[in-house]
Amino acid sequence: KDYKSEVAPVWCPGCGDFAVLSAVTKALAHLKLAKERVAMISGIGCSSRLPAYVDAYGFHGIHGRALPLASGLKAARPDLTVIVAGGDGDGFSIGGNHFLHACRRNMDLTYIVMDNEVYGMTKGQASPTTQPDWAKSKLTPHGTGMRPFLPTAIALAAGASFIARGFAGDPNGLTKLLVEAIEHPGFAFLQVLSPCQTFRPEQKEWKHLVHPVDTAPTDDPVEAARFIQADDGMALGLFYVRRLPIWQPQNQPTATPADLEREFAL
Ligand code: SF4
Ligand code: MG
Repeated sequence: KDYKSEVAPVWCPGCGDFAVLSAVTKALAHLKLAKERVAMISGIGCSSRLPAYVDAYGFHGIHGRALPLASGLKAARPDLTVIVAGGDGDGFSIGGNHFLHACRRNMDLTYIVMDNEVYGMTKGQASPTTQPDWAKSKLTPHGTGMRPFLPTAIALAAGASFIARGFAGDPNGLTKLLVEAIEHPGFAFLQVLSPCQTFRPEQKEWKHLVHPVDTAPTDDPVEAARFIQADDGMALGLFYVRRLPIWQPQNQPTATPADLEREFAL
């Protein structure tokens, strides 16, 4: 089954997001998920266009608000596989607060952040993950002067139960991580290094810098913290996975998937 929609992507040629789209559709095919049981949710940005290109349910929301939209959907329809996709600007700047609370709430969601250390759609401003000395944007001609946001460290500190990093230039590794993230019962955070050809052409070098993570995934947050502290930001793989209670709304609908199936005649 092909999970690509008929909508043609408008990303720049060579954008890393193409490989992420391909990994998403391959992971859905591998898991044999019915299209009507999958919902892709996003905010705004180049990478947030991704749901339009997947042949499943989807919702292209507003800037930074993909996680609350997805959390609401999952609360109302626990039978759906809900996958959230977005970028570093959308997810860590305006959406940063939602990121913290989605990690600690631990709903059964998969969150893919395509990280290119830039706001691509609005023409190349520094984002929360931009290195302090990147001075190519006219808005920050002397660099940002700020330490970058460390997504994996923050996910761990906020209580995420699955933390991994993939790379658009490693499609097989990325598909495998996505399958694991979707299968994980709880909030799975997957940072994907996804180069921006247009505003960060130097990210072509990432293919020479990435390397597989050199330890097995741990379920010990102290060990994971030690690993993340020593991480150069280029280690690929699953760092941390732990079974934690999944948050359910107090007023969880009592309808079972079978009831919903009758109701919606799927
Ligand atoms: Fe991809 Fe960058 Fe083009 Fe956006 S601006 S589509 S992130 S290459
Ligand atoms: Mg970005």
